Amino acid sequence: MPTVIPKLDKNFIENLPRLSLQEIAFEVSRTLLSDDIPEADLRTIVNEAINFDAPLVPLNDGTFVLELFHGPSLAFKDFGARFMSRIMGYLSSGKEQELQVLVATSGDTGGAVALGFLGVPNTRVTILFPKGKVSEIQELQLCSNGQNIEAVEINGTFDDCQALVKLAFNDGSLTDKLRLTSANSINIARLIPQTFYYFYAYSQALAKGYKEIAFSVPSGNFGNIAAGLLAREMGLPVKKFLAATNENDVVPRFMETGEYAPAPAVPTISNAMDVGNPSNWVRIMQLFKGRSNEFTELFFSQSGTDADTLEAIAEIYEKNGYLACPHTALAWRALKSIPNEEGLAKVFLATAHPCKFPSVYQGELKEKIQIPEAVKGLYEKTFSKISLGNDYAEFRDFLLGNL
Ligand SMILES: *Cc1c(COP(=O)(O)O)cnc(C)c1O
Repeated sequence: MPTVIPKLDKNFIENLPRLSLQEIAFEVSRTLLSDDIPEADLRTIVNEAINFDAPLVPLNDGTFVLELFHGPSLAFKDFGARFMSRIMGYLSSGKEQELQVLVATSGDTGGAVALGFLGVPNTRVTILFPKGKVSEIQELQLCSNGQNIEAVEINGTFDDCQALVKLAFNDGSLTDKLRLTSANSINIARLIPQTFYYFYAYSQALAKGYKEIAFSVPSGNFGNIAAGLLAREMGLPVKKFLAATNENDVVPRFMETGEYAPAPAVPTISNAMDVGNPSNWVRIMQLFKGRSNEFTELFFSQSGTDADTLEAIAEIYEKNGYLACPHTALAWRALKSIPNEEGLAKVFLATAHPCKFPSVYQGELKEKIQIPEAVKGLYEKTFSKISLGNDYAEFRDFLLGNL
C-alpha cells in the first residue's frame, strides 16, 4: 500500500465527463506511478492494457450496472491482469533473462492472466489448473493461447496446483536458474487499474445528470472494493460502498460483531468469491486506521446464500430483462438496502459475463445467455496443454525444459 495516497486535482474530477476511459486511466496511473515510469511509456502501457469499454448501463428499476466483463477473459480481472502484465514486461525489458510467471488457477484468474500476458515481450507464463475441474470455456481460454503461454493440466486439485507453484518458488536450485515470479500476489499493480473504472463510472453518472454515487461490489478477496476505496482516497466523491458476499461472510460478520474470524472457504455457485480469509482486508483496515467512524458511515456489507443468489438472478431478469452472473446478482441484491435519493446513482458492478457459469441457469434463463463472439472464436483456435501428475520432481523437470 502506498504510504501516502496522492490526491487528484479537483478540476480533474469535475472534468471527468469530458475524458475517455483511457484518458482517465492515464491520469490516475500517472498520479500514482510517474516517479517510476516515464509518461510516454505509461501512456503506451495504459492504451494497450485498457482497450475495452466499461459501460454504465441503466436498468428499469432505477439502478445502474457497471459492466466490467468486456475484456478478453470476460471478467473484471482483465483490468488488473492486463495492466500488471505490461508493467512487469516493461520493468523486465533489458534484463538478460525473460521473466517466468507461474500461476495456479481454479479457473477465472488463470484466464485473465494468460490473456493479459499474451504476446507481452520478455515474459513467459505457465498456468497450472486441476484436471477436469474448470468449466469448458475456462479450459479453452487457458489452452488456446500459444505464443508465450503454456497451460499445464495437473492430475489433482487446485490445492495441488498451488502447492507445486509454492514448492517451485522455494526451490533455490530452480530460482538460481530461472527468473520466477507470481501473478497471484496481491500486488499494487493489480489494484491500480481497478481504480480506473470507479472514476469512469462516476464520469458517466455525472454525464447523466447525477451528483452522487454509491457502489455495490461483489467481493471475495476484497481487491475490487479496496480499489474503489483507494479511488475515494484519491478524491473521488463516493457516498457509500457495499460489499456483497456469498455465504463466505467473514467481513459482514466482522461489521456486525467487531470480531474478525477467518474460516475455511465453503463452496457456492458464486465460486470466484469463495474466500474464507480475504487477503485485501488488511489493506482496507490500514487505509482507515484511526478513522473508524468515517469507515462505518461509508462501508456496509451483506451476505447472501445460493438460494438468495438464484432468486436475485430471476428477479433482475423479471424486472429488467437483464441476465446477471451469480456474483453480480448478489451485488444487485445488496443495493436494495440503500434508499432511493434524488441525484444519487446506485451502481452495482457486473464482474463477469453470465456465459462463464452455464450450470447456474435453468430453462428460459439458460436460453437467454448470449455467447460473445470472442468465445465462439475460441473453438476454432489450436488447443494445446501439457498433462502432468502432481509430483514436484516431474514439474521441476518440465520447468527446466528436461521433459
Ligand atoms: C474475482 C472475482 C470476484 C471477487 O473479487 P475480489 O477482488 O476478490 O473481491 C467477484 N466476481 C468475479 C466474477 C470474480 O472473478
